[in-house]
Amino acid sequence: MAEVISEVTKIRRRVLTEVAALIFNNRLVEDVEGLPKKLTDEGLTSYRCCQYKEQAILQERIKLALGIDITAEDSKKRLEELARNVLDQPVARSDKPYITLIEEACDHCSIDKMFVTNACRNCVAHNCVNSCPRDAIKIVDNRAFIIREKCIECGLCAKACSYGAIVEIERPCSRACAVDAIVSGDKASAAIEEGNCVECGACIVACPFGAISYRSEIVNAIKMLRHSQSETVALVAPSFIGQFGPGVDWDVLKEGLKKLGFTRVVMVAAGADEVIREESRELLENIEFNKGVTFNSCCPSFKNLINKHYPELTAGISTTESPMLKTARLLKKSGDDDIKNIFIGPCLAKKGEAIRESNGLIDGVLTYEEIAAVLVGAGINLAKLGGEKSRRDNNLENPSIDALNFCAAGGVSKAILNSMERDGLQVKTAAGIRDCDKLLKQISRGVFKIDFMEGMGCQDGCIGGPGTMTGPAKAKGLLKKMSREVEMNV
Ligand code: SF4
Ligand code: SF4
Repeated sequence: MAEVISEVTKIRRRVLTEVAALIFNNRLVEDVEGLPKKLTDEGLTSYRCCQYKEQAILQERIKLALGIDITAEDSKKRLEELARNVLDQPVARSDKPYITLIEEACDHCSIDKMFVTNACRNCVAHNCVNSCPRDAIKIVDNRAFIIREKCIECGLCAKACSYGAIVEIERPCSRACAVDAIVSGDKASAAIEEGNCVECGACIVACPFGAISYRSEIVNAIKMLRHSQSETVALVAPSFIGQFGPGVDWDVLKEGLKKLGFTRVVMVAAGADEVIREESRELLENIEFNKGVTFNSCCPSFKNLINKHYPELTAGISTTESPMLKTARLLKKSGDDDIKNIFIGPCLAKKGEAIRESNGLIDGVLTYEEIAAVLVGAGINLAKLGGEKSRRDNNLENPSIDALNFCAAGGVSKAILNSMERDGLQVKTAAGIRDCDKLLKQISRGVFKIDFMEGMGCQDGCIGGPGTMTGPAKAKGLLKKMSREVEMNV
């Protein structure tokens, strides 16, 4: 996420929190219909043409918080009916993409790339007119005018203007998407091309109108916490550090999650230790049998990128399960098969991975902002908890330093290199889909030969994920501090 918390993020979090609170207070069905009005009356949103438009958009945000697929025809029902359905019906998870466009919220940003601003002074030079290779600029009403049908968006006019009066603009959502998955939909709104989307969530962070968001799983998670007869385990990603405020360390978070109803709280880094061992073995084998580049398997967006955009490289993806799945498997092995595993982390793509690859090992995926909303909705204030020191859960809470650092860019390759203790390994890393894409392109073209590529869908790695609440710079510092403490066994 960005270092600055935008109004869009605040609105999304407020809606999640309100929905969670209504469930905990057993008032969801009764009060959900009035929630959009309550929120606009309180001044949460007042950016659109009128209150009715604001409320229509809030309705869609509430549906997403309820976990409803807003592209489906039956999502048009009243909020009250939808709320009753999600509470009454057994937990059913759909493999429909979690990332979705809220049509009503899309501001249909301009799709014209070259744009003449008020800085145009109708100067004598007319460098814009003279630089255009297609004769696409003429002077109308004392200023430059671009004839859209002729413009090829080469940008030469923008470069030529002495005043910088012509600017190049792009829809924020499509600029953020490195894989051309944002296209033009009905009435020039944005649309997501599922076949290209790698579920990185970059467009959610980029859209200044909050028109791209995601289906939440908070309702299912709360239902499991309140009604499940079996153990409900929180599998927390190590990037949790710093996400819930400066004083919230592992013990505080664990105490809060237990208060919420989780029967066990474990760190996913335990699974990462298994991943390091297994992926290193696999890499060694691939080198011995000359199988080409091995790609890490822990980042679902990176895997989606290879599978969807570089099918010729798919065979190189490590077959080792991700730390999330490994940890869930350890839990199922060591306990009751019936336990409910809820992953808590920074990632939206994990929601898709849990559906497609977990074979029932993972029962829900919550981002940090979702679990924060659930905690607040339940009236639990982490800042006020003491963080009772409890006995650590065997190796599930005592991961290695390398496993802890899996969540920062470069952490996976460092762990693999440390584990293999072999000279001469050729390794490259990339963070962010755009950089991953560049590197994969070169690998695919045979520009260089390497043994291992670490790809992370988010810049800075998982600590920069779209579901985080703290900027990556701060998170990185806190991760280092936690690693030092673990090393010193504090
Ligand atoms: S940036 Fe947001 S508002 Fe603009 S076109 Fe994209 S989705 Fe719509
Ligand atoms: S690939 Fe990422 S940025 Fe592009 S549409 Fe999908 S989630 Fe959004």
